Amino acid sequence: MKLLKIDHLGIAVEGIEAAREFWEKILGLPLEGTETVAEQKVTTAFLPVGESEVELLESTAPDGPIAKYLEKKGPGIQHVAFRVDDIEAALAELKEKGVQLIDQVPRKGAGGAKIAFLHPKATGGVLVELCQRD
Ligand code: ZN
Repeated sequence: MKLLKIDHLGIAVEGIEAAREFWEKILGLPLEGTETVAEQKVTTAFLPVGESEVELLESTAPDGPIAKYLEKKGPGIQHVAFRVDDIEAALAELKEKGVQLIDQVPRKGAGGAKIAFLHPKATGGVLVELCQRD
């Protein structure tokens, strides 16, 4: 398994519009667009920075994973995503090593990426996402 780079930082926000005041207006990161991923009950906004991106995450439903995260921990960094070149191979290797996974097989993320999450229990408390973009 080879991690290519930090693909993005996922940041849970109460609302993308309000969060833009800081990330876009003050820090000057360009907002490239937003996308709703219905099955994750989330709207994402991507703001590229160098080789990586900031991903703002706004919940679209009170029972969605981001809503639950905000309830428990408040706004802030929710996950770190690493780019891999072969996500199926990476997941197979992690399973082989006994790492607890949230996603046994990749699912579809924003921007058509293939993504999978590792369980925070297996990573020292960090929600780690693997991400493959073709
Ligand atoms: Zn992400």
